Amino acid sequence: MAKFIKSDKVSAWLEELGQKHEILAPRNEGDAIVFKPYDSKKGFNIEREATAPPKKACFPQSETLVEFSHIKDLENPEKVALDVKETIPDSSWVVFGSRPCDARGFTMFDRVYLNGKHVDVYYKARRENTFFITLACEKGETTCFCNWVGSGPSDPTGSDVLMVPVDGGYFLEAVSDRGETLLSSSMLEDGGSKQADADKFRADADQSMGEAQDLSKAPAKLLEAFDDMDFWEAQSAKCLSCGACTYLCPTCYCFNITDESDGVKGERIRSWDNCMSNQFTLEASGHNPRPTKAHRLKNRVGHKFSYYPDLHDGVISCCGCGRCIKSCPVGVDIREIVLNAIAYEAKEKANG
Ligand code: SF4
Ligand code: SF4
Repeated sequence: MAKFIKSDKVSAWLEELGQKHEILAPRNEGDAIVFKPYDSKKGFNIEREATAPPKKACFPQSETLVEFSHIKDLENPEKVALDVKETIPDSSWVVFGSRPCDARGFTMFDRVYLNGKHVDVYYKARRENTFFITLACEKGETTCFCNWVGSGPSDPTGSDVLMVPVDGGYFLEAVSDRGETLLSSSMLEDGGSKQADADKFRADADQSMGEAQDLSKAPAKLLEAFDDMDFWEAQSAKCLSCGACTYLCPTCYCFNITDESDGVKGERIRSWDNCMSNQFTLEASGHNPRPTKAHRLKNRVGHKFSYYPDLHDGVISCCGCGRCIKSCPVGVDIREIVLNAIAYEAKEKANG
């Protein structure tokens, strides 16, 4: 199904969708563009990729998993029962204006949290109730490399509706069955006459990305360089361990769990974790198996470009959004590190 919406009708369409779903849309917050619950007075900004991805739609920065309370038996004070209430989310969300890399990023979560040995019920509840209306990119920014990792500026993977800018508005294509349900509004016109414009937009965008680098050797080469800490120290020399790269990454899915309690009742809370922090692997004994930033950066890059692909049919766990490059305060570029690993020659070989 293909539809067309005039640019000046988009806000009204969002308000209509908002009668059935919560809407998350990007808008300006200071110098940043961030996804927030849609507010018609504040509008939205889909002119460029949002500073932070809409990761929180299915994986909130912090969420309560269970609420618990201790119930004391006053007749038998030594007996304390524990009452536990699971807090599975049940609202339905539409993420509007995410980019193809953002929607595709969730397919990397799916392999771990939905299709693995254990299903994450919290992620599942949100994922099944979250719809993505994704905006195709006109051209890549200098930090974008989605075409290196098997994707592209109008890749519909992970989206429910793909929006393509055309003269006077947007061509809307349903990508999934549930995407069709979002396109039933009477505000939308038939999109047939705009198909050719949309196809040209997509072809021009693909062209703008330039030639993709071949990363097929990355998994094996990263393993080859695994024990060469001189190599990893050189790659991580500038890193400040600030964690911006992990927090802003649409495919980083690690979390930590803490209990907060006043002694009678409390909550078990899950929050994003950050593998670039020295506390990520710090053990209670004081031993840390990843004691330096070189060890930590090796793990971050190795996980995305080697260990994850080895476990998941060769799929690279990076969608090429470039946010880690854009947001790194000291200019660490994950593309350079992967290419350096691909060009890596073990010392013994290099010496002769
Ligand atoms: S590693 Fe960097 S480029 Fe890749 S998905 Fe994460 S933030 Fe985007
Ligand atoms: S954003 Fe840059 S400086 Fe900060 S942890 Fe990541 S690589 Fe290091």
